Amino acid sequence: MDTLVHDALLNKQNLKQILSTDKYDEKLFELARETALSVFGNRIYIRGLIEFTNHCKNGCYYCGINRENNNVERYRLSLDEILECCRKGDKLGFKTFVLQGGEDGYYSNARVVEMIRAIKKEFPNHALTLSIGERSYEAYKSFYDAGADRYLLRHETCTLEHYSKLHPDDMSLFNRLNCLKNLKNIGFQTGCGIMVGSPYQTIDNIVDDILYMYDFNPQMIGIGPFIAHKDTIFRDMPDGSVEMTLRILAIMRILLPHVLLPATTALGTLDKKGREKGILAGANVLMPNLSPLKDRKKYSLYNNKICTGEEAAESIEKLKKSISKIGYELVSDRGDYKD
Ligand code: SAH
Repeated sequence: MDTLVHDALLNKQNLKQILSTDKYDEKLFELARETALSVFGNRIYIRGLIEFTNHCKNGCYYCGINRENNNVERYRLSLDEILECCRKGDKLGFKTFVLQGGEDGYYSNARVVEMIRAIKKEFPNHALTLSIGERSYEAYKSFYDAGADRYLLRHETCTLEHYSKLHPDDMSLFNRLNCLKNLKNIGFQTGCGIMVGSPYQTIDNIVDDILYMYDFNPQMIGIGPFIAHKDTIFRDMPDGSVEMTLRILAIMRILLPHVLLPATTALGTLDKKGREKGILAGANVLMPNLSPLKDRKKYSLYNNKICTGEEAAESIEKLKKSISKIGYELVSDRGDYKD
């Protein structure tokens, strides 16, 4: 690892410069790629994403399934359906399941615990990741004690002024950041992250997010471009930039060499080769969709989301091929965080 570059990246002025031009991209991506190769080799971890509910009590302005959107056909998967997705994923070689959903009161803390126990009973050696938003310390602790291993909760932005332009008044940045601290203290492999190019985001905001993520030192980081959704108040806002997303991925890889860093579906949606480009800029994780085909289109966070029309097996085959073309291999491994 080039410690000089690492240290240079902790300076606000330098970060601003690197983010504001494509001049450094080639070197940046190369260094990030080498860093990832030295830690993970050419192995890419896969996570099976199960979008189990699109009901949500929150009104995040950017999100297509926010509570205000009456055009969404709402659905919930039953525990049996969720287990069926896991079985399908297990057959395809997935060793991690990610349960993601809106903040849905139907899934009380007790129901989530029941779900975790049932999945862990059938798949004791698989890792289980939750991505179900903000809950109390006690709730998180009970999820951890029931066997959940990881938790994804993007902080979205660490700047209060920016946060308030993306969320209604009944949501709180303080609470979200506090949830992240609780998750990490409890012992979850914890993931924070941002959307790149979310409305009103400035370069200074991104710089602060990069430094926040470095300080928080999470085990996972989710970074993908913002993409407008037609039924939200941000429908006419421009999509985030693929290049900027790659730059931030590369910077985080250099700053936190061991972090688990996905090349996101949103990146693959804006650019046919987005996920491959993400890997070549230091990402080491892919999260293919395992949700039932009948409900896939209903989990629409943004316009034109990819892979909503094909079986998991089909998309994983395609991914394998395109990833091997750039010299990487999808592996069947839990892919836990290691120092
Ligand atoms: N309810 C959970 C899961 C949210 S969906 C939670 O609160 O954490 C997962 C992520 O999708 C969000 O954290 C957000 O960063 C991203 N997302 C939502 N809407 C988006 C959009 N329009 N474009 C790109 N990413 C989006």
